[in-house]
Amino acid sequence: MTEERDALALKYASTTKAFEEASSTIASLSLELSDYKQKYGNLSSDYSNELNRNEDFANQIKSISKTVGVLDKLSKTDEELLKKYSKVYFLNEHYVPESLRAINNEWKYTESKDLKLHSKVISYFNDMEDAAKADSVDLYVVSAYRSFGEQGALKNGYKVSYGSGANSFSADQGFSEHQLGTTIDFTTKGLGGGLDGFQNTAAYTWLTDNAYKYGFVLSYPPNNSYYVFEPWHWRFVGEKLARDLHKNNAHFYDWDQRKIDGYLINIFD
Ligand SMILES: [Zn+2]
Repeated sequence: MTEERDALALKYASTTKAFEEASSTIASLSLELSDYKQKYGNLSSDYSNELNRNEDFANQIKSISKTVGVLDKLSKTDEELLKKYSKVYFLNEHYVPESLRAINNEWKYTESKDLKLHSKVISYFNDMEDAAKADSVDLYVVSAYRSFGEQGALKNGYKVSYGSGANSFSADQGFSEHQLGTTIDFTTKGLGGGLDGFQNTAAYTWLTDNAYKYGFVLSYPPNNSYYVFEPWHWRFVGEKLARDLHKNNAHFYDWDQRKIDGYLINIFD
């Protein structure tokens, strides 16, 4: 019996020791584990910080290149195209649009007449003519781009037709817009190729309702305070500006030049 008891006591002692050793191993392992956990936590937070920094950087680059793109586009856009012309502000006599394109014979009142528009405006103009035609409206061009020299010659004729009561200086205003290559004088059937009476035609009504969709606006509306009413005289100012003017029931010359300048970047969008 004694022998058995001794053996059991020995076994118990060795088991207890093994258990103590195991406990201490577990303790040191869990210490190590929590060390690792902390290290890993730091690493992953470093990593996500780094990711965020890269993202910020990428966003900065994106916004810088966007700004550069806008500036580049703006630098290549002719700022005269949205200028308001007045008694104090005229186009330089040497001003010529960057490029001009001939208007399709189909849209001219007199086919033999050489009529040109700013090359970037032609597609908007063609779309507008196509839409008018689809609505059975005859919209013919009488005059489009006019050089400074051509304007001078015409002006003398207009002075006579306006008579002595006309403000000859103010009459220059409308001509200046033609020098841009973005402005058109329209006529329609029944006016003998003239402009008088255009406000009473279906063509004028159609333009009033639809021209803005193609970026064109009436420069000198009825009862305006800046110039004589010219129902036939329509100028391209870009779809965005034309739509916003239409939405606000306003006209180009009503708005501040600085507000209008904000549309220059989108004029051909
Ligand atoms: Zn005109």
